[in-house]
Amino acid sequence: MSRSQELFEKAVTLIPGGVNSPVRAFGSIGGTPRFIDRADGAYMYDVDGNKYLDFICSWGPMILGHNNPAIRESVAKAAEKGLSFGAATEAEVQMAELITGIVPSVEMVRMVNSGTEAVMSAVRAARGYTGRNKIVKFMGCYHGHSDSMLVQAGSGVMTAGIPDSAGVPAGCTQDTLSAIYNDADSVRALFETFPEEIAAVIVEPVAANMGVVPPKKGFLEELRGLCTAYGAVLIFDEVITGFRLGIDGAQGWYGVEADLTTFGKIIGGGMPVGAYGGKREIMGKVSPAGPVYQAGTLSGNPIAMAAGMTQLSILKENPEIYEELNEKGEWFYDELAGILREKGQPWQVNHVGSLGCVFFTDRPVENYADAKTSDTKKFADYFHYMLDNGVHLAPSQFEAMFLSAAHTRDELCRVLELVRGYFAAN
Ligand SMILES: *Cc1c(COP(=O)(O)O)cnc(C)c1O
Repeated sequence: MSRSQELFEKAVTLIPGGVNSPVRAFGSIGGTPRFIDRADGAYMYDVDGNKYLDFICSWGPMILGHNNPAIRESVAKAAEKGLSFGAATEAEVQMAELITGIVPSVEMVRMVNSGTEAVMSAVRAARGYTGRNKIVKFMGCYHGHSDSMLVQAGSGVMTAGIPDSAGVPAGCTQDTLSAIYNDADSVRALFETFPEEIAAVIVEPVAANMGVVPPKKGFLEELRGLCTAYGAVLIFDEVITGFRLGIDGAQGWYGVEADLTTFGKIIGGGMPVGAYGGKREIMGKVSPAGPVYQAGTLSGNPIAMAAGMTQLSILKENPEIYEELNEKGEWFYDELAGILREKGQPWQVNHVGSLGCVFFTDRPVENYADAKTSDTKKFADYFHYMLDNGVHLAPSQFEAMFLSAAHTRDELCRVLELVRGYFAAN
């Protein structure tokens, strides 16, 4: 038995499902999750000594590759001064200055500890600011695991095939309205039904938790227009797209500004960090400046700020990182699509910049209903073939592939050859 198998057998007796976040359990694809011992650059190494080219990248944070020396050193240096104070620090001011300097729509920002918290808090701020209760979210978008967001959510919720979570009282989701991604008319209809009740529309500007589904031309602009017209807050959940598509995220990429933005993943450089921010008049409602309560014992933690600030500073000062990463992404996903065509496979490749995925469906994927037509058994087979050949994809059809600055073209060429071999045989 492998060490990973041994650990997993023990883990399931001690941790629900053996993991601390569901998608890690290989639930939808079968087999034993690999227990990771260490990672460096584009590679992860498991406890059995296997080496994997990693396309999870910690679900996004490792945009510079694993174990970046500058980030590691900044963490070690911060740790010398103490791990947490529960009091204000200079690092938090520097972090806020950095973020507000990078994302034009973010005039004020509050640090939290996860993407879930960022979204939960942004939604509360939007409700407090507008004095309205209803929230519009899109089917297949994932916004963390807070009660009111667990309606037709993507990511692990989608993989598990549960439309909603047990333990969420109907009362918590009665103000959550679901719309169809890439269909602004479905949002317009909700505004026409509830013209004065919708506090916010929350969207992943590139949906990346039902596989990758880019916004159609004009979709985000229409959401912007509807929110402005009806006095609702437009929230971009940039937990994945923030600092990934470019330094200024999806807002820079598509040229559409949100009122509030949520961040996570990349912003912490691998540490547990989230943030939400936006217009001064909305953020000014957050306590203790205003009446919307939100707090956090470890929020703005000095070690986490050091890691995040180092990563964001590197990204900000080296714009060529994005140029190269996005070019590499375009090339890689186009090649992938080319191989599928060459082998007569009808599968879809969706991608934006360094984010992409292969959907095992013959139907173009523009929303949740399309994504759900994917053959997850075919994905599982493909996943295991890649894993057996040293390539660790996200263990679910409905997650993105994340490329990092550390993935070289040579390594990606090897992946493309593997894919060619797989589809030649299948
Ligand atoms: C990952 C994710 C979240 C939740 O972040 P956590 O840090 O896992 O709580 C929220 N929104 C989006 C778009 C995400 O991808």
